[in-house]
Amino acid sequence: MEPGGELHHLAIAVNSITQALPFWRDTLGLPLIGIEEVPTEKVRVAMLGAGAARIELLEPTAPDSPISAFLDKRGPGLHHVALRVRDVKAASDSISAKGCPLIGAAARPGAHGSLVSFLHPKGTGGVLVELVQEHG
Ligand code: ZN
Repeated sequence: MEPGGELHHLAIAVNSITQALPFWRDTLGLPLIGIEEVPTEKVRVAMLGAGAARIELLEPTAPDSPISAFLDKRGPGLHHVALRVRDVKAASDSISAKGCPLIGAAARPGAHGSLVSFLHPKGTGGVLVELVQEHG
């Protein structure tokens, strides 16, 4: 992996952004950056935070959303850790060549015009890891 990877966001699976938002925005005081639907991933995403690293709330938009499956199995909570990379395709290829499997296609559209890849928890020690290239 290229040097300089830094935390981009932590993602939390929620049943409802409407219900979860008051805690993160009002109780903790994190500014809401925006809410957006990502149809290809069947999720609605709320981005919060004031610094470089964000908090992302993920709500399923369909029963067959990956977030629905996660909520059914484990309930609401931490879903994935996302690291910023300059070139998500190159980083994915390099990591996959070192033996860590990806989930789905590399360098696919994510929230806010980004390109993303997901690393399988089998290869990371149990944590779903997302790689994010902004403004892909
Ligand atoms: Zn994410």
